[in-house]
Amino acid sequence: MAKVFTCECGVVIKGRDDGDLVRQAQRHAREVHRMQITREQVLAMARQE
Ligand SMILES: [Zn+2]
Repeated sequence: MAKVFTCECGVVIKGRDDGDLVRQAQRHAREVHRMQITREQVLAMARQE
């Protein structure tokens, strides 16, 4: 099931499934914000497409 994560900076990340979304969101957070975010944080902020 596709999910969408909207970062606090406004970037919208779409994942094919939970795992894909978490990976992409964690990479974005690390590369852009120098932040580590957990799977739980990503999924808590995600919504169904
Ligand atoms: Zn961001």
